[in-house]
This record gives sequence, structure tokens and C-alpha cells, in this order.
Amino acid sequence: MSRFFSDKYSRLTPYTPGEQPKTRKFVKLNTNESPFGPSPLAAEYAAKAAESLQLYSDIECTALTGRLAEMYGLERENILFTNGSDEALNFAFMAFCDEDHPAVFPDITYGFYPVFAALNNVPFEEIPLNGDFTVNVDDYCGIGKTIFLANPNAPTGIALPLSDIERIIASNPDSIVVVDEAYVDFGAESAVSLIGRYDNLLVTQTFSKSRSLAGGRLGMAIACPALIRDLNTIKFSTNPYNVNSLTQAAGLGALEDDAYFRENCARIIENRAYLTDGLQKLGFVTTESSANFVFAMHPKLDGEQFYLQLKERGVLIRHFTLDRIRGFNRITVGTRSQLDTLLDAAKDILGGIV
Ligand code: PMP
Repeated sequence: MSRFFSDKYSRLTPYTPGEQPKTRKFVKLNTNESPFGPSPLAAEYAAKAAESLQLYSDIECTALTGRLAEMYGLERENILFTNGSDEALNFAFMAFCDEDHPAVFPDITYGFYPVFAALNNVPFEEIPLNGDFTVNVDDYCGIGKTIFLANPNAPTGIALPLSDIERIIASNPDSIVVVDEAYVDFGAESAVSLIGRYDNLLVTQTFSKSRSLAGGRLGMAIACPALIRDLNTIKFSTNPYNVNSLTQAAGLGALEDDAYFRENCARIIENRAYLTDGLQKLGFVTTESSANFVFAMHPKLDGEQFYLQLKERGVLIRHFTLDRIRGFNRITVGTRSQLDTLLDAAKDILGGIV
């Protein structure tokens, strides 16, 4: 830290993103990226947009917003595109949390929430998940704080049914409920269908996972027009050009190629079952995942050791150091051949200890 760094950030512990090693070619199952490339249409549109890079990007993301509004049966005023959904989440912490509106989220969830809270000087409460890592819905009913729920949750992959999400929203009419749907396309029910009925609901989604555009950084917030206006106030006070023109073009291509999107989601769901089954046959315990990853532990294997030994064998997965989940690892659903490499390596590691 330099002697110039502001006191207001000096105690901040930044979010630790998954490793992106450059030195060796790994089978990379650690950051929940899609194993499939972007739609060819996305690449084609982005290449075309590159010809006009001398111009600033469209601050309203006009084409993208129009297309998504049509697809979701919403108005343009219900949508704000952001630089990844992380930006939408940060905007939500900025716009809807303060001393009088503290944040609340589960003890085991997306690790960026406490960082955004600290960054924005927002008090927060972490509510323990049940022993089986499910959310106790009653904990959030009538809580009167700004609620952040990832659905499906990360890193557990467990989803809440829409009826439970609605119960939480309906019981907190004077508080914002943010439903982070980064992984919703892999099997959970989206709360977007509730947008017209609740003025306290904010849904965030991303193109990073199911639409294979993690490197493009494209996410969105979906809510009633008043909430989107608030988020726009934040956006226009920080970076009006938050979504660059290559990404806007790629995003439009990804939306237009709906068949490719559906096919890839179906392949991931199929491969998730294959991975879960393979792990269980080796004695791993897994949660029921509705996401593009599986959360797994082996009663005879230390979580960190498993992660390290896989890394030695050229396979990267994500290990977390939080006490409650130390034994677990989060494994991204890759291609069949990536998963076979992982399962073979796991068999090899287990061979040495059982
Ligand atoms: N929410 C959750 C639960 C996530 O795991 C991630 C990915 N790290 C994000 C939001 C943010 O993804 P992005 O900024 O790439 O849209």
C-alpha cells in the first residue's frame, strides 16, 4: 500500500478471482467459463464493430436492449446493460444499501458480496445456510434489509424454487431483493417473470456463462423502470460508456443465435449429470447443482490436497478456504473429454489413499 492510498480503502480485502495461469496449459475447470466458444454470429458482429472503434460506444446499448426486451416480454426501461453482472451488483450495493439499509446474504455465497459491501461502506449480515447448504427461506422473510441471493447459489449450485423467491420478495415490500441469476440458464427458474408485479425486485444476469462471453464482460440488471433509473444515475456518475462497442455487438449476436445458446445449455446440463455420476461413483458427495458446476467433497480426501494434486496433474478446479466448505471443491462442467481427464486424475489420486 502506498502512503497515498486513502484511509477509506486501506482495510479493504479485494475479491480473489479464480486463477488464470499463463505458464502451463491446464484443463481449466475453475472459473465456471463455458467450455464452448462464443456463437459464430457474436464473433462476426464483433469483428464488424471493430471497424468503428474510433467512436464511443452507444450509451444506451440500443440494439441489445431492444432485442432483450423483446425476448423477455419487457420494456426497454426495465433493462440496464453493464460491464459484466459484477458491475450491476456493485451498482446495486451503491444504489440500494447504506447504514439504514444494510445488506444481507448467506454465509456461503458469491464471495464478491462482502467485498462490494466493504467497498461501499455498507454494513452487512451473513445468514448461515442450513447444514445441507440450502437457504432457510424464513430467515429472509420480513427481514427489512437489502437482500442478495444468488439463484442458483454459488458455489453450492443449489437453486430455490421461484415460489420461495417470491415469498421473500413479497414479505419485504420496503426492501430491495437482488436475485443474482448468473447461473439460471442451467436449470433454475428465473424471477424475471415477477418483474411486472414487484417494484422491489432486481434481477441480475450475465453473458459470461451460458452465452460464452466471459471475456466480453456483459451483464444486465432487470427491474421496474424506477430501479433501472436509479442504477442509471450511478452508471452516468461513474462510466457512461460501461459496455464497449465490440461487446455490445457480440452480445447481440449471442442473443440472435438462440439455437446455439440452447444447444450449449443442454450439453452442459447433460455433462453435469455425467460429472456428478462419475464423482459419486468414486465416493464423492455432491450437492444437487442447477448450475454449470458441481460442488463436491470426498470423505477420505482433504479438499485442498485434492485441488493441489489435481493441479499437479494439469487440472484446475476451485478450492475455497472458508471453514464450512474447506472439504469441498467447485468443479466447472467442461466438455466430456475435460471431465474424463478430471475423473481419471481423481481416480489416480484416490488410488494412492484408499
Ligand atoms: N454472480 C455470481 C454468483 C458469480 O459466480 C459470478 C461470476 N464470478 C458473477 C455474478 C459475475 O459474473 P460476471 O461479472 O462475469 O457477469
